[in-house]
Amino acid sequence: MSRTTRSNALRFGVLSVSIGLVLLMAGCATPPPPPNLGALKNDITEYYKNGRYEKDCARVTREARRTLSAWEGKKKTAIVLDVDDTAISTLPYLQTTDFGYIPSLWMPWAEQADAPAIPGTLELAKQAAEQQTAIFFITSRQEAWRACTEQNLRNAGYPNWTSLIMKQAGDRRNTEKYKTAEREKIIDMGYTIVLNLGDQESDLAGGYAEYTFKLPNPCYWLP
Ligand SMILES: [Mg+2]
Repeated sequence: MSRTTRSNALRFGVLSVSIGLVLLMAGCATPPPPPNLGALKNDITEYYKNGRYEKDCARVTREARRTLSAWEGKKKTAIVLDVDDTAISTLPYLQTTDFGYIPSLWMPWAEQADAPAIPGTLELAKQAAEQQTAIFFITSRQEAWRACTEQNLRNAGYPNWTSLIMKQAGDRRNTEKYKTAEREKIIDMGYTIVLNLGDQESDLAGGYAEYTFKLPNPCYWLP
């Protein structure tokens, strides 16, 4: 074997071993364990406490208000707002349950109708009212909760809205399907939905709005 052939064979051997090692390591690599729940809860509590949540919401709603301003004077415009953690905050409830959803505790809390407004969303709604833009709330809350939900929106300071759309008993559609279908009905009524604001991707997916704006929600996810 010539010196060149020997050297090439050596290089090939080293390369093969290296590739083998990489493949072996890739095969052995296991994903890291999920984050620690207690640590996550501490981080989320801090996110609310240090004002970052409020700032992040304000940044989104400022942009939404700017977008809405550009539509001033246009006919039959509308905005769509989700209710929980978009129009009003459920944080006071989540703090009592250590971030859990406990149906037997949720209902009595919702009936108190004193969830505070998310300030930027309230400003957006007031601006819509001033611009003669219709306000539609679309929520996954059940129709049975209408009275306390309307009372809460009034208590939080929301101006007159055109409609509060609630889920009917027995409606098994997921949030995205239900909300998309309801926005389509609003469009069929001749409105242009300038913007749709929600805290879940499922509030916003599916179209039927010129713009969508997403508020942060580190506490829960709804399909
Ligand atoms: Mg929500």
